[in-house]
Amino acid sequence: MRGRAAAAEDGAMENPSAGQGIEALAALLAASRRAVVFTGAGISTESGIPDFRSPGGIWTRLAPIGFGDFVASAALRREAWRRRFAMEEAFAQARPNAGHQAVADLVAHGKVSHVITQNIDNLHQESGVPEAQIVELHGNTRYARCLDCGLCLELAPIRDHFEAHGEVPDCPACGGLVKTATVSFGQAMPEREMARARDATLACDLFLVLGSSLVVYPAAGFPLLAKSHGARLAIVNREATDQDGLADLALHGEIGPTLGGAAEALLFSGRRARLG
Ligand SMILES: [Zn+2]
Repeated sequence: MRGRAAAAEDGAMENPSAGQGIEALAALLAASRRAVVFTGAGISTESGIPDFRSPGGIWTRLAPIGFGDFVASAALRREAWRRRFAMEEAFAQARPNAGHQAVADLVAHGKVSHVITQNIDNLHQESGVPEAQIVELHGNTRYARCLDCGLCLELAPIRDHFEAHGEVPDCPACGGLVKTATVSFGQAMPEREMARARDATLACDLFLVLGSSLVVYPAAGFPLLAKSHGARLAIVNREATDQDGLADLALHGEIGPTLGGAAEALLFSGRRARLG
């Protein structure tokens, strides 16, 4: 693991070893009374969910279908749904990994108040984090929603209809267009979720970024907001991020072993994490 750590009491720590990084992260968590976790694609790639934005990812090969095009064109709606169902296997087979589990453990022990996520894969829910403590900034692809009345719909019957008729049915309640419950390019960010994320961020004393390169705004603004209101900032990501320089701790490595080690050291005394 490469990274930088500048925990205030300890002075700067350049290029900590994996064990030092895990210890520094555990110390930040130990000192926190109310942490917020912020997750991006990097935590889910460890579960086999592809990062759509990465080089070779689906959005570098296929132009994303923006919200305006989805609403305007039946052909593009069919294409959007075809792509979604082509991904079904990957979503259905993905299971929470050690990183998700460590987050769920920290939530269960009252250390983390909220998990703000850019991911749409439902893996935080599946790892046991209560729905009320999850903020989904980009929605959820495991179900669909009517664009007019907001009715939630299961995907399986929509897929059956799509395979039989080549298009998805309209909303059974109001006849509106049905779309996965995600936020597409060009679609407004969900106001309620943005407000929940902001409230949680302002109330935290530690903001922990896991697996986000922090380039997609407005989501990437939350670490800056936390830092400007006095919270500590820690980042665990495979690559360096633009906000590493602001962080109290920035570690470059896998999330599962890094956060898993820190959570185990913190929460399960007597079973010391293997450090180093
Ligand atoms: Zn409807």
